[in-house]
Amino acid sequence: MVQAGDVRKLFLQAVFSRGVLSENLAKVLWKKCIEAVKAADEDVEVSYSNDPEIWDEFIESINISLNDLDFEFKSIQDELDGKKLFAMVNRKDDELAQLATDYNGVEITYFKAVVEQIILARNESFSVSSLAALREVSAGKEKINLTKSQAEILLGSFVANSWLLRSKRGRYSLSPRSLLELLPYIKSTYTDDIIECTICHEIVTKGIACKRDNCKARMHYHCFETYRRRHPTCPACSLNWPQNVTDNGLLPVGELAIRDGDDGSRQTRGSPDSDSDEEMEDEPSHTQTKSRQTQRSQAAKKTGKSRTVDSEEESEDKDGTDEKAEDLPPPKQRNTRR
Ligand SMILES: [Zn+2]
Ligand SMILES: [Zn+2]
Repeated sequence: MVQAGDVRKLFLQAVFSRGVLSENLAKVLWKKCIEAVKAADEDVEVSYSNDPEIWDEFIESINISLNDLDFEFKSIQDELDGKKLFAMVNRKDDELAQLATDYNGVEITYFKAVVEQIILARNESFSVSSLAALREVSAGKEKINLTKSQAEILLGSFVANSWLLRSKRGRYSLSPRSLLELLPYIKSTYTDDIIECTICHEIVTKGIACKRDNCKARMHYHCFETYRRRHPTCPACSLNWPQNVTDNGLLPVGELAIRDGDDGSRQTRGSPDSDSDEEMEDEPSHTQTKSRQTQRSQAAKKTGKSRTVDSEEESEDKDGTDEKAEDLPPPKQRNTRR
């Protein structure tokens, strides 16, 4: 005998193998599952509705039945267009088992290395160039047993399977699929290196940052749009904010934050900040491009300690005051940053 609960069962079967799906597709599947149950027994008390509340209730019921399995049918908003996406997420999985069906151990090791370079990228750019991504084959402590051309094909495959995004400029960044399905791994591995949206508290890899020194406000584009409609100032420091993300006056998070030379050397985790600062100061190309990433982990580790403690006099002179910061050129052309 068919029951209303069979809609859930059918729906779970439909979404489990699908990876990331749009909210529209998820709703279509839901509707089809209801129709299938109704076709078997039209007296079953279940009906499709366009009411968002009924949809939310259905998702909630799905998640209650998944709870014991440590799975969640989780949604995020696409960082680029704000559209809602869903995926089945294993909440406990802090390894990359999701990739194991498509990739072997060496390939997963390479994927991890590229993800690390994306997350540790200087200046909150959360992206790597193709060159920097290919460098990972031989750059790490353990050599990855892949040729550069194999790695190139593999990168294409990560993009084709929606694990990475490749921009028009050829830079790789984290995809919505990775941000959904690999979030437990990313959060547990890079706790101090990822940043959170001030509004929705989800991870941000593309969006905006307040330009005031030491201000921690970061937002997705869609969160900024919603927030800015009601509030003229930064939620953290009350600095006046522009109306649009395209106006001058905010710093980018993501690819737009990249500056010349940021891919010049690879980032590693775990090296003491003071040491890496000294290294950077020894290299002339880096003295003017102090990374926000370094500041980010410093901020995480030395909470309350002022940026000026770690800053060179030079950068202090350049952007040390808010008045001067107001006059800075648009983010893309700037060569100094908070
Ligand atoms: Zn957000
Ligand atoms: Zn602020």
